[in-house]
Amino acid sequence: MSSKDWIEKDYYAALGVPKAAPADEIKKAYRRLARESHPDHNPGDARAEERFKAVSEAYAVLGDDAKRREYDEMRSLFSSGAFRRGTRQSGQPGGVPFDVSDLFGGAQAAGGRFGGGNISDLFSSVFSGGGGGAPGPARGRDIETEVALDFDDAVHGVTLPLSLRAPGVCDTCHGDGAKPGTVPRTCPVCHGAGATNRNQGAFSFSEPCRNCQGVGTVVDEKCPECHGTGGVTKTRTLNVRFPAGVADGQRIRLAGRGEPGERGGSAGDLFVHVKVRPDEVFGRTGDDLTLTVPITFAEAVLGTDLRVPTLDGPVTLRVPPGTPSGRILRARGKGVSRRDGQTGDLLVTLDVVVPARISDQARAALETFAEQTPPAAREHLDARVRRFG
Ligand SMILES: [Zn+2]
Ligand SMILES: [Zn+2]
Repeated sequence: MSSKDWIEKDYYAALGVPKAAPADEIKKAYRRLARESHPDHNPGDARAEERFKAVSEAYAVLGDDAKRREYDEMRSLFSSGAFRRGTRQSGQPGGVPFDVSDLFGGAQAAGGRFGGGNISDLFSSVFSGGGGGAPGPARGRDIETEVALDFDDAVHGVTLPLSLRAPGVCDTCHGDGAKPGTVPRTCPVCHGAGATNRNQGAFSFSEPCRNCQGVGTVVDEKCPECHGTGGVTKTRTLNVRFPAGVADGQRIRLAGRGEPGERGGSAGDLFVHVKVRPDEVFGRTGDDLTLTVPITFAEAVLGTDLRVPTLDGPVTLRVPPGTPSGRILRARGKGVSRRDGQTGDLLVTLDVVVPARISDQARAALETFAEQTPPAAREHLDARVRRFG
C-alpha cells in the first residue's frame, strides 16, 4: 500500500460507514461485506473478488486504531489544502510550487527512506508545523561561503566585511512579479484559491492549481527586473569577526546570519569556510609557527646568536657550539595565541648550508681544518660496503 493510496482511497466509503463510526460498527460492516464478497461464495466473479480486496484493504487501516488515526490526519491535511506552502501569496518570492504527484513520486522512489516508514513521519517532514489550516513558520536556509585570510590575520584575528549574494524580494515589483503599473490578475481557474478540487471516487480533495502553480494569481506583463519571479539575487555586507588562531580549513558558524525565515520562522545560519594564504617565511602546525633558518658550517661548529623574525618583532636565539644541521630550536610563546590564553611556540629549524663556491683563502683554511679533524664515523657502514666487494 502506498501513501498515495491513502490520499486517493476512501476506506470509509468502501466499508459503507460514516467517518465517525465507532470501531465495532466498522468491524461489523467489514465482516458482512467480506462474507458477501468472499471469492468462495462467488466463484469466477472478478468484480466480487475486486470488492473483497478493497474491503480487506480498507479494514486493514480502519480496523487498526493507530493506522486509522494517521489515515484521518493525512486526509484532513490534504482536503484542507495545507500542502500549499511556500507560494508567493505569503509575500515571499521564490516559493517552490508544491506538486502532490512530485511528493509521492519522490517518496516512492526514495524507497528505503519512506517505504515502510511511519506515514506521519513523512508528513511531519513535509508540512512544518503539521495540523490543518495555514502552513507554519519555515526556517530560512543556511548559507555557505568561503573566505581567504592573510596568514597574519589568521594568527592575530581580524574583522572583515563579507559580501553575500542571496535571494531577496524584487524592489521593482515588490515581489508580485508584475510589470510596474500593472497588477497580477486573479487566476481564472482556481479563482484565487491556489488550489482546485479533484473528484476521486466518493470524495474530492484539493491539489495545487496547475494554471497558477498554487499562487492564486497570474501575471500578464512580467516585471522586467525579475522576469516575473518576484525574487532577485541581492548583495548584502556583513562584518565577520575571525578569532585569533583561526586555521586553514576551519568552518565558522554565524547563527541566524543565513537566509531570512518565512512566516515568522527563524533565519538560517551562515557557515564561513576559512582558507589561510601561506606566508612567505612562516609555516604553521596547529598553534606552533615554523621557520627554517640557514646557518653556515662555521656558525654550527662555533655557535652563534641568531636574530630571527617572529610575527611580533625579532627575537635572539642562541645556537650553541657544535649544533648539528636540522636541529630545532624553540622560542616559547612566539606561536599562535588564542583568546583562551593557549599559546603555541615558534619552532626554528637550523639548516647548515654548503657554499657552492669559495675563495682560495677559504679553501686553504678548509684544507687545514680537514687535516686537523678526524674522519666522520662511518665504521658501521663498512660491512655493508664490503658485501659487494
Ligand atoms: Zn490558479
Ligand atoms: Zn520584479
